[in-house]
Amino acid sequence: GQKVVLITGCSSGIGLRIAVTLAKDEKKRYHVIATMRDLKKKDKLVEAAGDAYGKTLMLLPLDVCSDESVRQCINNVKDRHIDILINNAGVGLLGPVESISIEEMKRVFETNFFGVVRMIKEVMPDMKKRRSGHIVVMSSVMGLQGVVFNDVYTASKFAMEGFCESMAVQLMKFNIRLSMIEPGPVHTEFETKMMEDVAKMEYPGVDADTVRYFKDVYLPSSIDIFEAMGQTPEDIAQCTKKVIESNSPRFRNLTNSLYTPIVALKYADETGGLSVNTFYNLLFNFGPLMHITMSILKCLTCSCLRRRTISPN
Ligand code: NAD
Repeated sequence: GQKVVLITGCSSGIGLRIAVTLAKDEKKRYHVIATMRDLKKKDKLVEAAGDAYGKTLMLLPLDVCSDESVRQCINNVKDRHIDILINNAGVGLLGPVESISIEEMKRVFETNFFGVVRMIKEVMPDMKKRRSGHIVVMSSVMGLQGVVFNDVYTASKFAMEGFCESMAVQLMKFNIRLSMIEPGPVHTEFETKMMEDVAKMEYPGVDADTVRYFKDVYLPSSIDIFEAMGQTPEDIAQCTKKVIESNSPRFRNLTNSLYTPIVALKYADETGGLSVNTFYNLLFNFGPLMHITMSILKCLTCSCLRRRTISPN
């Protein structure tokens, strides 16, 4: 029979694309429940789903930050039966920490960390009873490696990775699979929203040097990295489809082979010096030459490291 897949954050970006890709599966193997906070934002998804809408794809409202909304949403699913839960909803946060209030930081954790925990808590008991299920979480390479000026976002993804790494062990006992997808940069509204936030940003309490490092050194390099390395939501949707269709899905799934050398640094030197120094050099010494740095990185991506990613095709 059809597998019931529930996805969070489907009004845009990666979530929208996963929902459409699964709903349009040629063999119609999935019944997709695409959820979003505000159903008024459904038009883009409905349009992209085309004929699948109302057949293999249905919509439900869901705010991952609300206990009540999460419970109601799952109660509205037939028999509360979900085979595959895809935790995709997430928010970014960029900038010098001095200028970010603790309230704003908590909002990021409320979505990226507690949002996932809330969903898993609601869905897991039924999966345990059935001794089957697959939980997929949209992490990031920033769940594996800290990135300057992404301090709080990175921390929220690390928190989630720690949670999942711990959960995976007991879930295995119940025949429930857990997989994390770890994309590098992806061209979505995420990037646009963050750049808009940055444009609006004021820097109360931040010294002039830090503001300059952020605006004139970090931001241009970051835009270069997006251009040189960015994947499409379609790429990530294909990777996710592969993961849920695998007989033995991996726990960690990097999607971008250009990032594997950066992640490998961490495992190559357990003191952390190699990672911190490399990132320092990338930003402050090679930053202005980011295009050249990117070409070097591409050369460095030898086949043995590339094998560790999951590719969209
Ligand atoms: P996006 O902004 O297009 O999508 C995020 C979605 O989550 C939006 O539809 C948003 O409305 C939704 N959302 C936010 N708060 C929510 C809440 N409380 N309840 C329900 N939905 C909520 O960006 P995206 O790039 O598609 O992001 C999807 C996921 O991919 C996020 O978890 C993000 O951290 C992760 N990711 C993105 C990138 C990237 O470069 N874009 C890279 C790695 C990982």
